[in-house]
Amino acid sequence: DSLDDCSSDSQEGTKYDEETTISSWRLLSYCKPDISYISLASLCLFLAATGEIFIPYYTGQVIDGIAIEKDKEKFVKAIVIMTLISVGTSIATGLRGGLFKLIASRFNRRVNNFLFSSIVKQEIGFFDNTKTGEIISRLTSDTTKMSDQVGLNINVFLRNCVQSVGTCIFMFKLSWKLSIVTLMGLPLVAFISDKFGDQYQKLSTQVQEATAKANEIAAEVVSSMKTVRSFANEDEEIHSYESRQNEILKVQVKESLLYGGYRWCTETLSLAFDVVVLLYGGHLVLEGELSGGYLVSFILYQLQLTVYIEEIGEIYTGLMEAVGASKKVFELIDREPRICNTGTVSSGRISGEIRFENVSFSYPTRPDISVLTDVTFSAAPGETVALVGPSGGGKTTCISLLEHFYEPTSGEVLVDSIPVRSYDHKYLHSKIAMVGQEPVLFARSIKENIAYGLSSNNSMIDQSLVEHVSHLANAHSFINELPDRYETETGEKGLQLSGGQKQRIAIARALAQNPQILLLDEATSALDAESEHLVQDAIYKNLSGRTVLIIAHRLSTIEKADKIVVIDQGKVVAQGKHKELVEENGLYAKLVKRQMLGRKKTPAER
Ligand code: ADP
Ligand code: MG
Repeated sequence: DSLDDCSSDSQEGTKYDEETTISSWRLLSYCKPDISYISLASLCLFLAATGEIFIPYYTGQVIDGIAIEKDKEKFVKAIVIMTLISVGTSIATGLRGGLFKLIASRFNRRVNNFLFSSIVKQEIGFFDNTKTGEIISRLTSDTTKMSDQVGLNINVFLRNCVQSVGTCIFMFKLSWKLSIVTLMGLPLVAFISDKFGDQYQKLSTQVQEATAKANEIAAEVVSSMKTVRSFANEDEEIHSYESRQNEILKVQVKESLLYGGYRWCTETLSLAFDVVVLLYGGHLVLEGELSGGYLVSFILYQLQLTVYIEEIGEIYTGLMEAVGASKKVFELIDREPRICNTGTVSSGRISGEIRFENVSFSYPTRPDISVLTDVTFSAAPGETVALVGPSGGGKTTCISLLEHFYEPTSGEVLVDSIPVRSYDHKYLHSKIAMVGQEPVLFARSIKENIAYGLSSNNSMIDQSLVEHVSHLANAHSFINELPDRYETETGEKGLQLSGGQKQRIAIARALAQNPQILLLDEATSALDAESEHLVQDAIYKNLSGRTVLIIAHRLSTIEKADKIVVIDQGKVVAQGKHKELVEENGLYAKLVKRQMLGRKKTPAER
């Protein structure tokens, strides 16, 4: 069935090394579109690296020219060549540096775009399961880590490889005996770098995980500051943030120790090389096998070579760090949504019939707890059906299933006798609009909020439509009193508006879609009795022809519905008209009684 079409389980049990190779390869494959920049940068890199290789050679020539052969012409010639090479090399170096930075930025943009578009396509269950901080870490620090490697380290890595090879060639040309002695130490350096790199990668993955945890706390606290303040819980939050930071530091201390040890090893090795080369090289000069100037050149080469190899080791660890980060990024880029949004039904009119057929459901985060059991009810086109029942009974869940946020564990949710999962997501959601329990506004203008999903371009928004639906939702008058009217920016998460105002904007937003099916989840709960009456009026006035599923607690709203479905503990315990249900004297009658006893009737209810 459709679940199988969409989800591809990640192949577990793949070998660690294999994965590393694959993600390094993937990392490079994201550079492909910049192949022309990369070619030019590589050319510059090659030129600069080759140019630099000649410098020690001509330094030796200069020294032979002045100190040993006293040959002024040789001296001048060597200086002129050196100057020319230096000019060329520096130009190539500048180009190389700038180009690689540019490549890195373009890489970062590309990966971030891929990542973000994969994130927003994930099923709702994914967001239930994944902390916001973790997702933001992926988008920020992880991708930056990757692009830094691409821009900086790959560049230096390549340069060092070219230069190491070139340097070796020159060294052999100068004295093969001395070269062999020097190069015997190389495998040792490579071995140490490799061991170190493995450990370092493990630690850096731990650092990333610990950092994501600290970010989670920060994100949660910052976004719920009012709750934190009202419980005076700042110190606790500071404390838990600090303890997460301490976790990071603990791993970083290990990292530092490892790094220190590594530096100590390589430093010892390179100093030992110097001594050996001087000893044996001096011997060769005394024997007349090598000129003094050439020994100087050789020593310069040997010094350079140790630096290059050391750097390659360091870069290798940096690259491993990026591979660690990229593994997580690619995992998310490659993640197939567990719920298909690409059904085939994508055109035509719908009448708006809704049917739940023996629907059972549990949330993916808590698969063992059954939230809905064998729920069956229907709404004919144009009908208004109220879902009522105690809180936690599963009413909102029904709406989420109808929105295809989740898929039922068994049974079917149908619109016009077609399962919702068979609809193309864009088409389905153009026909269904929802006002959620906690309406969320975006940090944009009110106008853009109301026209959300209709047009991405502010200037294209139909102002008369926006005002029309605002009238219907009883929001026009308060919007008109705001400083910039429809252009007023609502703060982040709509902080500057009251709950009732936000709800009215959300209702206007739903009406602007002109949906065939309207889902109202306690959409009037934050309104006072008077404005609720007005909004209700508006809703009922505009329902003509629309199918409405409404979740509400107030009797006045429920009474008018064509059908009432009573849901308790995930089961439909009764359905019918208000009068019938009251006569049945079951849960519904109890709820009605409690409400009527609990407070005085509002003018609207009398
Ligand atoms: P109602 O809207 O009737 O108050 P809900 O449909 O919101 O009830 O919730 C029904 C049950 O499902 C509750 O026990 C609630 O804890 C659980 N629930 C709601 N949303 C989720 C979720 N995203 N993940 C796991 N459980 C959930
Ligand atoms: Mg609810």
